[in-house]
Amino acid sequence: MKLLENKVAIVTGAARGIGEGIATKLAEHGAHVAFTYVSEGSAQKAADLEEKLKALGVNAKAYRSNAGSFEECETFVNDVVKTFGTVDVCVNNAGISKDNLLLRLSPDQWDDVILTNLKSVYNMTKQVIRPMMKAKSGSIINMSSIIGIKGNAGQSSYAASKAGIIGFTKSIALELGSRNIRCNAIAPGFIETDMTHYLKEGNAGDDFLKKIPLGRFGKTEEIANTTLFLASDMGSYLTGQVLSVCGGLNI
Ligand code: NDP
Repeated sequence: MKLLENKVAIVTGAARGIGEGIATKLAEHGAHVAFTYVSEGSAQKAADLEEKLKALGVNAKAYRSNAGSFEECETFVNDVVKTFGTVDVCVNNAGISKDNLLLRLSPDQWDDVILTNLKSVYNMTKQVIRPMMKAKSGSIINMSSIIGIKGNAGQSSYAASKAGIIGFTKSIALELGSRNIRCNAIAPGFIETDMTHYLKEGNAGDDFLKKIPLGRFGKTEEIANTTLFLASDMGSYLTGQVLSVCGGLNI
């Protein structure tokens, strides 16, 4: 059974990693997907993904759009509404990490992480609620992190951005519940992607593995499955929630 037949979904940061897994999963379930990437180096991957999604029988379009730029998000969402008709689901997934102990953390590093991870969620949500309010329905899913709940030495900017997403998510759920717009967050643990490449270098991942009751790192598809649940009517009575998808990780 397809759970998102003919719905229109946006996924930010989907040329690779978790975003790619989410875009694929939503398309497999019948959603038309507009997705973004930001770096020139990901242009080919984005074009390949667009073709892969279209082969699943849905409309798909890749956009090079910086989620940290309010203006670019406005242009992007306007184009999606013009091309696809509306926005039913928005997955704010784009994110970066620039890890450093606070003693060494520069103002630029701090600003980059907050802009890309947190302001991006404001930028996109502000745009997508217009078509959602018109349709009197919508599901917004924000990618937080278990680090935003628990904190982690050397990740203060990342943790702050991801904790900020949780506060934003809960507030938007309160603001827009009466319009039938749901807003939830996912807090992944350690998922195998480019962002966590260090887990496979030497024994770096071993300490973390010991803290994961399920005894392994997560897969992008496991975050995609949770996203599908929240995006579809399977999650119709959930809003303002944070789902930790982390194998029970206790850091
Ligand atoms: P990756 O580094 O593998 O991919 C990040 C994606 O985000 C890329 O497609 C990248 O685009 C895109 N992106 C980065 N900056 C921007 C921007 N300014 N505008 C638009 N797109 C942007 O990361 P993951 O897949 O691992 O992470 C995805 C999300 O999940 C992030 O928010 C991350 O914080 C979160 N997360 C990840 C965890 C993990 O263990 N991997 C754990 C918890 C949370 P491009 O390809 O063009 O560079």
